[in-house]
Amino acid sequence: KTQHQFQVYKRVSYADIGGLNHQLKLVQEAVEVPMKNSEFLNSCGLQPPRGILLFGPPGTGKTLIAKAVATETKAHFITINGPEIYSKFYGETEARLRNIFQEAIERAPTIIFIDEIDALCTRKDGASSSDQEKRVLATLLTLLDNLPTHGIRRVLLLAATNKPDALEPALRRPGRLDREIEIGIPTATERIEILTKLLLRVKHLLTDADIITLAEAAHGFTGADLAAVCCEGIESQIDVTHLHSSLSSLASQPSLAPTGSHGTTARHV
Ligand code: ATP
Repeated sequence: KTQHQFQVYKRVSYADIGGLNHQLKLVQEAVEVPMKNSEFLNSCGLQPPRGILLFGPPGTGKTLIAKAVATETKAHFITINGPEIYSKFYGETEARLRNIFQEAIERAPTIIFIDEIDALCTRKDGASSSDQEKRVLATLLTLLDNLPTHGIRRVLLLAATNKPDALEPALRRPGRLDREIEIGIPTATERIEILTKLLLRVKHLLTDADIITLAEAAHGFTGADLAAVCCEGIESQIDVTHLHSSLSSLASQPSLAPTGSHGTTARHV
């Protein structure tokens, strides 16, 4: 860890992630393959993406995917949290960004992960945006445009947001965040896969049939919602009655039901 606003994540592997098989395949294609074979792709005239945007409701596993990418690639990995890097002091946010991008170039190949990127790049079409917001956006766009995107010492941007529509469109132009991967609310089958992964970490008395019943009952729950339910049982051995009561108490909170504890909207069943 250095003075900058970043950290290397604790180890999470692809095997810890439930569901999201298609999305993980897309991430691997967009991040790992070009990192490992960039000379070959260039020689074929193929242009790997410069930046990838993971978007979707809170708690669906965007950060988890970034952690897994950090573990599974040998590239230098830098994390920036959009709201945390913001400073009220004149020019400091821009200076922090410049330092981080400088380090990314020096230590390349590098993946820069910007979580909650909307905090740095909200649409600037309203009169409401401050001078500071405009300066930070301009700095970030310039830094992105100047990244080395070819060859073995390339830098790739991975970003996550819950609010893709709030993002400044300039950021999503080709050559910047030019690949977008949706991380949605899990389906019933994906909920079974997520519960199965989560339950590997705790002692429990559940049968496969119990897990299927729970997953079906948890319509609209995200991975984070399911993790909250499972973690409640870590102290004691959890059984199906305990999990059922946790599920129903989560789902019965008026502001949350029936869409999950993150206020998300269920789109799949
Ligand atoms: P936010 O937008 O709020 O940052 P996020 O999409 O980045 O949310 P994560 O931080 O990745 O969500 O997920 C929170 C926690 O929920 C994870 O640490 C993990 O315990 C659990 N979780 C979420 N999705 C999954 C999944 N697909 N498989 C296993 N665990 C999951």
